[in-house]
Amino acid sequence: LPVEELIASLSVDVPDFPVPGVVFRDLTPVFADAGAFRRVVDALTAPADLDPRAAALSGSDGGPGFDVVAGVEARGFLLAAAVALDAGTGVVPVRKAGKLPREVVSASYDLEYGTATLELHTDSIRPGQRVLVVDDVLATGGTLEAAVALVERLGGVVTSVAVVVELVALGGRQRVAPHPVHALWRT
Ligand code: 5GP
Repeated sequence: LPVEELIASLSVDVPDFPVPGVVFRDLTPVFADAGAFRRVVDALTAPADLDPRAAALSGSDGGPGFDVVAGVEARGFLLAAAVALDAGTGVVPVRKAGKLPREVVSASYDLEYGTATLELHTDSIRPGQRVLVVDDVLATGGTLEAAVALVERLGGVVTSVAVVVELVALGGRQRVAPHPVHALWRT
């Protein structure tokens, strides 16, 4: 089964969550299935998905094309850790405001009501490090746009943004541009 069909068959649409009128795509059954989780992690890790600019930077060392994986709280953590272990890199958490204990950089972005803030430890990315940014779902793109901005503020080079599901109608890809978004299932 192609990975997008596997994801489509296991994910569950939840109407009116978290607020009336929103259909929430629940991926927890995909992560709970051993075979599907393996396929998803492998597909997110695949070097073929790299931005050509990053491939040029990475040379021909045969490595994964990134030096560290940044996962966005909270479902992105599940994926980022598995991808990092698979690729042989470390993993760093992009967290909601107030969770990280040491010096951070912060980026705020608009939600439908109010704003949200993401943070990254200042010393978690070194200048020039190649970073794969991972989350579960790309919706409007505000979350990943902020995560990318934090990595870049620390001098990191975002080589790819990888998600399991892209909700195409919400146009999030445009907000993350020019960084390529690698989505396993575009719907
Ligand atoms: P965005 O900032 O792109 O609008 O929203 C993306 C963030 O909200 C991601 O961190 C993602 O986990 C969460 N999100 C938004 N919509 C959904 C959805 O339908 N399903 C899941 N699992 N997460 C969602």
